[in-house]
Amino acid sequence: MPRSADVKDKLGFSSTSIHEGDEPENIIAPIYQSSIFKHPFGSTIRGRELRYSREDNPTVYLLEKKVNALEAGEDCLAFSSGMAAISTFVFASLSKGDEIVASRDVYGATLVLLRSLEKFGVKVRTVLNDQLINCVTKDTKAVFMESITNPTLKVLDFKEVFRVCKENGAAAVVDNTFASPVNFRPLESGADYVIESATKYFGGHNDVIGGTLSGSKKLMNELWEWRRNLGGSLDPFAAFLIIRGLKTLKLRVDYHNKSAQEIAEYLESNPKVKGVFYPGLKSSPYNCIASKIMCGFGGVVSFEVEDGEKAFKCLSSLNLIKTAPSLGGTETLMTHPVSSSHKGISPAERKELGIGDGLLRLSVGLEETEDIIRDLEDGLKSL
Ligand code: PLP
Repeated sequence: MPRSADVKDKLGFSSTSIHEGDEPENIIAPIYQSSIFKHPFGSTIRGRELRYSREDNPTVYLLEKKVNALEAGEDCLAFSSGMAAISTFVFASLSKGDEIVASRDVYGATLVLLRSLEKFGVKVRTVLNDQLINCVTKDTKAVFMESITNPTLKVLDFKEVFRVCKENGAAAVVDNTFASPVNFRPLESGADYVIESATKYFGGHNDVIGGTLSGSKKLMNELWEWRRNLGGSLDPFAAFLIIRGLKTLKLRVDYHNKSAQEIAEYLESNPKVKGVFYPGLKSSPYNCIASKIMCGFGGVVSFEVEDGEKAFKCLSSLNLIKTAPSLGGTETLMTHPVSSSHKGISPAERKELGIGDGLLRLSVGLEETEDIIRDLEDGLKSL
């Protein structure tokens, strides 16, 4: 018997991530590495005939069942990347004349994609994160936000934002990649959609690209058609890797949370560091709200050194910590947002977002915390 959806109310997070969707004959589910299935007279998924893997695939469906239980949604769809989940959402949900309000602190590619919707006649208003709530009106169709923003790690009073969205009839869409459902479950707090770049904490090992989108059955039913027609479906082998990652998600995120907190406190005590951005720090303006609504503050810490030159010097003096994009994996990674993720944004807009030339973003991996701190110490000593 496949486990029922209410297993999530009986089992804990890790037990659910390991066992949700189990078939009785499997301990480890097989990979359905097939593009086609026998039909008619074959199996069904969600009441639809299983025919072709761009539409549905049993391995991908197992991942969707697990993510759905972990996000506390009604249904979930998996995509070939986080951006495929986001682009499918916007093409499915917005039409000419609709207005979308988005935080300007969202991931760079998301911001570029949303702004490009203007060419289809969608009204796009990108506003500062803390202004989001004031910009939602009866004309707003959707509001796009991130649960912890990149790279300055801002957190909103989401219950209030979702309430205002509901009052105005706007869909609340949360990219929850930085928090993961271990730390925050937006659907439980009143969001309509939650998106994850599965490339990050879900996969967890910097070896797979994927994305998920969860919400109500009705919304996911509409999105299913768009996923099929846009073609951003997830490959079964990638689904298998993400399923494997999910089984240790809670263990890993708990460790990332703890290690990032210790590293943020260390950085705050280092005189070479001008400022530290981490919602778990008492000094963070987001500590109060994040403590109220989240179970942990995530594995990303940003900090500022004096200027861009010193930031590069610090980067080039590291050994254990590698310079690379992305986050949420086993390896600790560092980036310089001004020359990477936010290179395409004007200096004036970067200033408004609080992204200075000396800012560095650290994705804390699973190495021993003291080893990461020792490497940071060496990098900062060089300044
Ligand atoms: N959302 C956030 C917050 C991200 O950081 C990223 C990628 O870095 C994405 C979405 C896009 O995900 P993907 O790279 O899986 O398309």
